[in-house]
Amino acid sequence: MDPNNNKNYQIAYSDPAVSFLTENKNSITMDVLQKNCPDSAAIKIFQELNPTLIVPLLQKNHLSGILFLGERFYFDAETGIDYTEYEKNLVLSIGSLAAIAINNATLIERSSTDMMTQLKLKYFFFNVLTEKLDNAMSEKKPLSVIMFDIDFFKHFNDTYGHECGDYVLKQVAFLIKQNLREEDLASRYGGEEFTVLLNETTKDAAIAVAERIRSCIENHDFVFNNQHMHVTISCGVAVFDHESNPVTIAKQLVNQADQGLYMSKHNGRNRVTYAPPSLVSLDDEESK
Ligand code: GH3
Ligand code: MG
Ligand code: MG
Repeated sequence: MDPNNNKNYQIAYSDPAVSFLTENKNSITMDVLQKNCPDSAAIKIFQELNPTLIVPLLQKNHLSGILFLGERFYFDAETGIDYTEYEKNLVLSIGSLAAIAINNATLIERSSTDMMTQLKLKYFFFNVLTEKLDNAMSEKKPLSVIMFDIDFFKHFNDTYGHECGDYVLKQVAFLIKQNLREEDLASRYGGEEFTVLLNETTKDAAIAVAERIRSCIENHDFVFNNQHMHVTISCGVAVFDHESNPVTIAKQLVNQADQGLYMSKHNGRNRVTYAPPSLVSLDDEESK
């Protein structure tokens, strides 16, 4: 068995092989699957993998995935290469533990993600920021936070309806994500506010990222119900630096970015403002 890592082995949930594996609740060979699911489109994908055993990853009656066992290296010469019932059941039990792990990971992913924009939620952002800030402090490395707010967002809701507002939100979130690296973290911080965490990123680099996102949104053609719209965002950038801005609490850095955002709004919107370290208020000392 030699799976191609660049290939997407996705199988439709409606495929007959999925129902069969779910209802049959057993580890099976390719022959058995072929005989029972002649109309399955997934079988072609399975054949490519040339499995010796197909194991459903089941939790209760939910199929979370399918495990394909490859060539069998160790076997008893007397019993041959076929799996015994004991082995099939053993691997099925291991499969059900894997299914529980997959389901738990899916639940964590869902509960920390905003369903509308697919960005992370505020609490998740703070958890990661707290961890990365600790790391930045001990390693003496920089770390940046950007805060974004859509300009005159109420206008889109009021003029074209709430659905249009939702469309603008989703599109802005998509464009923010598109302009980030895999390792950066974007969150929907509140209604039409977003935060981005750039780990190990200096002030100049963070300002460049914020500016790239601002400009991308300004130049993007937003179209809802044939209506073309011009959308802009205001940004605030704050940077942890162990010498020039030694904040110790995640909320302090976010508050600084928020202050930068406030200045961008105050100075005419559609701009990026770097929040200097002096913008830590005493109140922040008590915050998270
Ligand atoms: P400013 O340039 O000062 O930021 O003005 P604004 O109109 O963007 O600011 P304001 O904070 O007054 O408006 C935010 C609006 O966002 C108010 C709220 O009804 C709307 N909003 C919050 N969440 C959602 C959402 O999920 N969908 C939609 N359509 N609107 C939302
Ligand atoms: Mg706004
Ligand atoms: Mg706002």
